[in-house]
Amino acid sequence: MGSVVSEERCLYAAKCGACHIGEMSYEQELAEKNKWVISHIGKYCHQIHDIIGMYYPYHYRNKVHAVLGKVKDTVVAGTYAEGTHTIIPVNSCLIEDVQASAIIQTVAELIQSFKLWVYNEDTGRGLMRHILVRKGTATKQIMVVLVTASTEFPHKNHFVEVLRTRHPEITTIVQNINTKQTSMVLGDKNKILYGQGYIEDVLLGLRFRISSNSFYQVNSAQTQVLYKKVIQAAALTGDETVIDAYCGIGTIGMCMHAKARRVIGIELNEQAVKDARENAKQNHLKKIQFVAADATEYMTQMSQNGMRADVIIMDPPRSGSTEAFVKATVSLRPRCVVYVSCNPETLGRDLEWFCREGYIAEEAWIVDMFSFTQHVETCVLLSQQRGDDYIKVSLEPGCNTR
Ligand code: SAH
Repeated sequence: MGSVVSEERCLYAAKCGACHIGEMSYEQELAEKNKWVISHIGKYCHQIHDIIGMYYPYHYRNKVHAVLGKVKDTVVAGTYAEGTHTIIPVNSCLIEDVQASAIIQTVAELIQSFKLWVYNEDTGRGLMRHILVRKGTATKQIMVVLVTASTEFPHKNHFVEVLRTRHPEITTIVQNINTKQTSMVLGDKNKILYGQGYIEDVLLGLRFRISSNSFYQVNSAQTQVLYKKVIQAAALTGDETVIDAYCGIGTIGMCMHAKARRVIGIELNEQAVKDARENAKQNHLKKIQFVAADATEYMTQMSQNGMRADVIIMDPPRSGSTEAFVKATVSLRPRCVVYVSCNPETLGRDLEWFCREGYIAEEAWIVDMFSFTQHVETCVLLSQQRGDDYIKVSLEPGCNTR
């Protein structure tokens, strides 16, 4: 368990609500998260290891977002007060990357000096909506995404030039067009204004390309801790067919590639799949392929075609998986499933489905990737019960009692 106490003070804590810094020490927070995960998966899991905290729990977020608005006549960047469209200006943040916060402040200043029209969520009028900054922690590459309500961008070349002069550390600038009246930050269309339109980061020795819309873990240091646990849990021998379901830009599957016979990554977001394929090429990985598909549909199809998988890694969004996905997984008869989850509640529900299908949750590791927030990551090793050991379990009171 980590030993850092949250002694830093946040100026915006009372109003912002994005994190709960200052409410308790980091040690207490880790203990609370540990208890929280156990309360949801304890009855299914044989062994749950103590939470692995962060060594330095500040300024870890490599992706920083700010909404644009006006306070009196001044353009400000910040966050909405919960449940409202009232903007709270935030000039610095204890969990966000420091360079990213500084760039956001400069963009707000430039929008003011270039007299660009700030978007108003209530009326749906105006141009400049959000700023997103992504940084490759290892490479130091920085992407700035300027989200606009239409394709226009008056004085854009000059704007880009001034922004680059003020922040030479920026490696690419993208305009993202979001025409919808929605709380989603990004639209589907991107225009590259400077650089390559993506950044790269390095995880466990592999280089990954990240586009504006692709999912990428926000805490690179702890992601590597988590992925090492996934690799440990899967215990590959070099002879396995591995499926990386909900694979994003392919990071987990690629980190397992060296020890697998073959890896198949399945992901719904086509841009992420494009990035994943490019990532495999850049890293000269020949035994991995990616498919743009719904994971459940693709795996069901695989099993109908008589295919099998030895190990299935799954890392679904917060809403968790589905019973149909669990059935599709089981139909491929994997020796083990490694479930990576960012939500202990849906994880508990999904473990119950796996237990009903004859899998047992052997071991779990909890990794804190999001200090001072209510989020935590868990990795669970599920193994197929065999022979005498196989009991079609009844779920009350705990499905794992052998
Ligand atoms: N494993 C990756 C990404 C996990 S985030 C990593 O560690 O970085 C979850 C991913 O699941 C997102 O990229 C999302 O686009 C994808 N996703 C959501 N629903 C899906 C579905 N039904 N089938 C396949 N992928 C899906």
